[in-house]
Formats: sequence, C-alpha cells, structure tokens
Amino acid sequence: MNLTEKVALITGGSRGIGAAIGSKLAQYGAAIAICDLEPNEETVGLLKTVAPGGKASFFQADVTNFKRAQEVVSEVVASFGHLDILINNAGIAADHVIWKMTEDEWDRVIAVNLKGAFNYSRAVATVFREQRSGKIVNISSVNGLRGQWGLANYSAAKAGVIGLTKTLAKELGKYQVNVNAVAPGYIQTRMTENLPLQVKEGALKETVLGRFGTPDDVAAVVAFLCSEGARYVTGEVIRVDGGEYI
Ligand code: NAP
Repeated sequence: MNLTEKVALITGGSRGIGAAIGSKLAQYGAAIAICDLEPNEETVGLLKTVAPGGKASFFQADVTNFKRAQEVVSEVVASFGHLDILINNAGIAADHVIWKMTEDEWDRVIAVNLKGAFNYSRAVATVFREQRSGKIVNISSVNGLRGQWGLANYSAAKAGVIGLTKTLAKELGKYQVNVNAVAPGYIQTRMTENLPLQVKEGALKETVLGRFGTPDDVAAVVAFLCSEGARYVTGEVIRVDGGEYI
C-alpha cells in the first residue's frame, strides 16, 4: 500500500487504536496530524521516526468543540499544504445499565463518540468537496451493530456513527470521497483494561479466533480503507472483531 504524499488527521491519536493507525499510515508514507486532549510526545516522536521526512504534528483539541474542529482542519491544511484522510477515532466509554446511567454519562459519551465525528466530518467536508477527493474512516464498534448490556450510551453513539457513515457516503460520493466505518470487537487498550474479569472472559468466549484484538489489527484494516485498493468501497462497515459478533 502506498500513501505517499497523503496527509491524515487522526482524532484521539495519542494512544491506543488511534496511535496504531497513525503509525500504520505513516509506515505507508502518509504525513500524520494527531488531535487529542493532551499532547503525547512519545507518540508524536515515534511517528516522526516512521513518517517520511518526520512529518507528524500534534494539535490540541477536544473533539466535542465544533469551532475548534474547524480551526484544527484549517491549521492542518496550512501546516501540511493539504488534507486527504480523516480518521474519526476519539472515543470514551462510561458504562452503566440504563436504570443507573446518569445524564452526564449519556451526554459525554454521545458528545465525544458521535458529535466529535460530526464535528470533524463537517470540518473536512468543504475541503474534500473542493479538492474532489478524500477518505473518511469512522471508528464504530460491534456494540453499535448489536447493542450490549450496560452500554446504552456507547452503543447508541456507535450506531449513530454508522448512520453518519452511510449518509456521508451518499452525500460526498459524487465528489469522489469514500466514507467507511470499522467496527472493532474487544481490542486491548486502556479503554478495555479495567473491565471486570467476567466481561473479558465473556468477550473472549465469543471471539472465534480465540484471542483479543490488538490496535494494530484495527489499523491494518483502516489503512486498507485509506488506500487506492479500496477506491470502490464506500458506505461500508467492516467488523474487526475476530468473529466476536457473527
Ligand atoms: P483509548 O486507548 O482510551 O484512546 C482513546 C483516545 O481518544 C485517547 O487518546 C483519548 O485521549 C482520546 N480522547 C478521549 N476523549 C477525547 C476528546 N474529547 N477529544 C479528543 N480526544 C479524546 O481507547 P481506544 O480503545 O484506543 O479507542 C479508540 C476508538 O476505538 C474509540 O472510538 C473507541 O470507542 C473505539 N473502539 C474501541 C474498542 C476497544 O475494545 N478498545 C472496541 C471498539 C471500538 P486521553 O488519553 O487524553 O483521554
């Protein structure tokens, strides 16, 4: 795969799946712009060693901030000269069964996972329409496809991301912009490390490949969706879950 000359913006790219995506796209030749709440010098430092010409930069942002999304996209275009790929990856979870879920838990999870994806898609839409090219990959979840106990907020947000993906694929298709989603299963990151043992065991039992996923497993599929090989793929949702949800 060759992403030379491409510039990718990855939300929540400081660590976990987002950092693995940055690393993978950089290995294929892309310049990487990360936006996240906090700078992670280690991730940016690593990316600089992988990306051609050390082209990797950090942009501080909370993805829930609509105005900041417009600014970040403008700053990335000003700094790198253009923007070709958006990965809507930033996400949080705040789990509770519905009768215990607080309004704040609902609002925060919808704001980061769903409104964040809207904010950045909205900000790049003008750029991609004008240049008549672009790729958007949204990170959803198998729990957005099937629902999950204790995850009303998260499952609703991730299902919303799938609706957003399909709609944007229709709206931006005639501008040669591909919009797809990946739906990971259980991936070993900070998000999952403190889940109760019985939840982990349950997920592993469901996973037909018999192991948890890694951030790199997700990054490999995202990289394909960003590549020329996926030029005729749009509006698609690809599970990356080792068969957890079949
Ligand atoms: P993670 O390790 O917790 O990383 C999430 C990243 O998003 C962090 O860098 C975090 O920054 C950033 N972030 C959180 N809130 C933000 C905000 N308001 N603005 C900007 N950045 C923000 O989680 P992960 O597992 O890599 O998750 C990445 C994506 O994959 C998420 O969308 C998640 O829902 C999805 N996903 C994960 C799994 C899984 O099993 N891990 C499965 C399916 C889908 P801080 O470190 O500063 O908080």
